[in-house]
Order: sequence, then C-alpha cells, then structure tokens
Amino acid sequence: MTLAQQPLPAINKEALKANTKELSSDYYQGRKPFTIGEKRALEFIKNKFKGAGLKPGNRNSFFQPVPLMETDISNVSPLIVKSDEASESFEYMKDFVLLAETSAPQINLNDDIIFAGYGVVAPEYNWNDYAGLDVKGKVVLVMVNDPGFGVDTTIFKGKNMTYYGRWTYKFEEAARQGAKACFVIHNTAAAAYGFNVVQNSNNGSDLFLDERANPQPHTLVNGWFSASAAKKILALAGKDTSLLVSANKKDFKAVSLGLKATLTAKVTSHYSTSQNVIGMIKGTKRPNEYIIYTSHWDHLGVGAKEETGDSIYNGAQDNATGIAGLIELAKTFKKMKKQPDRSVLFIAVTAEEQGLLGSKYYAENPVYPLKNTVAVINMDALNVYDRTKDISIGGFGQNELEDYAIEAAAKQGRSLKKGGYDTGGGYFRSDHFSFVKQGVPALAAGSGSDYGDTHEAEIGKKYADLGKRYHSTKDEFNPDWTFEGAAADLQLYFLVGYKLANEKTWPKWKEGSEFKAIREKQ
Ligand SMILES: [Zn+2]
Repeated sequence: MTLAQQPLPAINKEALKANTKELSSDYYQGRKPFTIGEKRALEFIKNKFKGAGLKPGNRNSFFQPVPLMETDISNVSPLIVKSDEASESFEYMKDFVLLAETSAPQINLNDDIIFAGYGVVAPEYNWNDYAGLDVKGKVVLVMVNDPGFGVDTTIFKGKNMTYYGRWTYKFEEAARQGAKACFVIHNTAAAAYGFNVVQNSNNGSDLFLDERANPQPHTLVNGWFSASAAKKILALAGKDTSLLVSANKKDFKAVSLGLKATLTAKVTSHYSTSQNVIGMIKGTKRPNEYIIYTSHWDHLGVGAKEETGDSIYNGAQDNATGIAGLIELAKTFKKMKKQPDRSVLFIAVTAEEQGLLGSKYYAENPVYPLKNTVAVINMDALNVYDRTKDISIGGFGQNELEDYAIEAAAKQGRSLKKGGYDTGGGYFRSDHFSFVKQGVPALAAGSGSDYGDTHEAEIGKKYADLGKRYHSTKDEFNPDWTFEGAAADLQLYFLVGYKLANEKTWPKWKEGSEFKAIREKQ
C-alpha cells in the first residue's frame, strides 16, 4: 500500500491528555534521573508499553541501563574578573552559571581570559577561531550561535544555525583545544531563549555520560555569563560590544583580554545508572531493519522554592506530551491489520535535558546496529493547542525524510511552512541529533504556525504564554489543552514511520549535508 492509499489513523486525544496529565503531576517530582520521580516514570512507561502490546526492546528487558556521572557544584565563590587597574565581582546564578564535567573535587580558577569569537573550528567553512592560539590552562570566552548569525548571512548557513552554534559544541571544542574553562556569553536572540532558561537548566546537579571506560577530553569547568555581565567584562578590558561584532568577520583573530578570572568551587561527583525504556514491534519480513521513534521522559526535577511556593518542574509540554505521543504511536501501530515488515522501536530516552545523554548513549551503544537503522523520528514537546495547516521541518534540506513528511502532510491537507529560519538550531537540540551525529537520518518535524487565521491574536497569546513557561516550574498540565495539534502531528509521524516500516528503501542524506559522509562509511 502506498502512503496515498493508507487511511489516516485515529489518534486518541483523551489518552494523550490523560497520560500527559499523569506524567506531569507532582507525584513524578519533575522526572529527574536518580530520583524517586525517575522510578515512577520508568514504571509508568514500561506498563504503558506493555499495555500497548510492545515486546521488551533490549533482549528480555524493557530497559537499557545508561551509566551516568552526576556532579554537584557547591561553595561557589563570586567570580572575580581583574584587570591591572580594576575588578568586577560576579554573582553565581545571577550573573553566571557553572557546569562541571569533572570528577575533580575542587575548582580553582586564576587564569587569563581569551575571547575566541564563536569558538568554532569548521574546516568545511574554512573557519578557525582557535587558529594559532594556545588556550591551554586559559579561560575561553565565546559567543553563542555561529558567524552566519551576524550581519553577513552568506557565511555558514546564514540565519540557520549550524551545530557549531550550539553551546554543547562550544564546550566540546574548548575541551579539544585544551582550555581550562569555557564560558558562553548569553544573548537572547542568538540563543533563542532567555538567560532564565540557562539559569533554570543549571540550578542543580549536572549529568554526564560515565566515561571511565572511554575517557574524552574535558575542561575543568564551563559556564555561561549573562549579556550584561559580559559587557562589564569587555569594559574592564577597555573594549565594548564592537569586539563581539568583529567576530563575525572572516579575518577575526582571538584576543587575550588582559584579564584574569578567579573562582573557587567544590564539586562532589558520583556515578549512577539511569534507564532508557525500549519497546519493540518485531518486523514480519525484515526484522533486522529498524525504524526508531524517540522521545525523552526526563525533565528538570525539583528546584529551589519560588515565591509562588512551587518548586517542581513538572515538564508537562516538555516532555510528558512526547511520551504520551510515543505511547499512542505504539498503540496505533499495534492496531494495524498489516503489521510492519521492518521492526519498529519506541525508545523513551533519559537525560535529554542534561545534554541528550540517553539518546547519545543509545547511539554510541546501540542495541541494534545503526547501519541497520533506517530512520529516527523524534518528538519533543508536542503542540497542545490547535491543528496547523502547515508543518515545520527542523534542519530542512538535510535528508530525504522531509520528503516523506511533506507527502504525509499533503495527505492531511497540510503543506510545508514557507520561509522562516532555524535560528535557534532546533535540529541540534533534541534526541534525534544523537543519531544524526552517528549518521542515521532523523526527522524532527512538527506543527507550523498557520492556524487558518480565524482567531490569530488569541492563538498568538496562548503560544506566547506557553513559550514563557518553557523550562520553568510553570510548564504544568492545563485542562484547556485540546491536543488537536498533537494528534495531527502524531498522525503524520505514524504515516512516515509506517511507510518506512513497509518498504525497502533507505532514505539518504541530501547533497551538502555535513552528516552524509558519516552514513556512507557505515
Ligand atoms: Zn524536551
């Protein structure tokens, strides 16, 4: 059966609603790995997978253990930046945040600060912010996003963020260069989120993959400065924001600011194991070829009490909706008279919020070979309100899965959203990217923004309100959520996955994609 002949499956909006409400209730304590909330969430998902008729996806188990390291930073001193004449003191959590990917118990900084532009080494764009630079033992200050975000949109991918724009990349590169610390300068437009999101995401312990068996380079500590703190640092060096602007130019050279940063903090670290939950439908004809649906179950846990007395990050939209969607997709597949030729995996991954760790672990330690993995479809924060007439595709132009999505959308009477840029690097910000980095084509599609203009102002308000709740304790279940948009998008994910699961084709990366070569090596 072709996609055009495939009837549109019904998606159970009431079940979506109920499962989202349940998983985002206070009982799950914000679903942070290693907490009681994790235990409860894992049990819930496993039971729902079983109930949907899925088989255990990791031999006889629904779980894939994910070994993690948790670090907790405490006794953080103010961060003092000194020039020969003057100094400024910055307050932890207000002016800067820290992340320590280290098992070293003590952080001591008393080191020179180098401004390294965007902190990017991108041979395909002939760009190297670290050229001729020795940052060993230094504190590197970099900007979020990539040089294409500046005035010259002909470089990199223009307003579309490349992976080089992501903070995760900045820290990886600084570590490869041997830096002692790396700080990203926040900018709301360039990051696509406010400094409050940075603060909320780094206000407790941090998680990393346990790399004891496979050590990777790391800095001693990383962090972010608020835009206003960064301005003060530049002023101490006798510079202003024109220095930041100059980093968009090809002839930019990193500069030592003639400043020293001092800071002390304690780090306690321990190792523990979280879990990915994997359910499976075994293919009837080609069981050794796999389609994977992913969605993260974790969220930010419990923070400090706010004025409102609420300290639980319920993560209702992000990402109880995605898990509810994963469960509905599993049920929809099982209901099909014709069961898929290829195997279909439903993976609820852990520790997305802390750096896509559960998916990264799976992609680096796959239960089923990645070369036999046809495609990945990810869901992160479903559209809880109205159905849109258009769809958006993260990382448009990357791979052929978008052609499947456009075909499925057409069947629903929807079309591809016109224009717009992926300035926030959405394609690099959720779990499918862990697979992309290993060369597996992945789809990150969702609702567009065309609601058929009957009540546009009202809808605009609703989505603006949702946006403000992102990564805050206010991302809570709302009985007004209709899940109309989510149901439409789930239908689309089903159509794409079901088609892939019943054909023999292997969707490819498109010409010019930075991930094409990795796949071809497999
Ligand atoms: Zn999320």
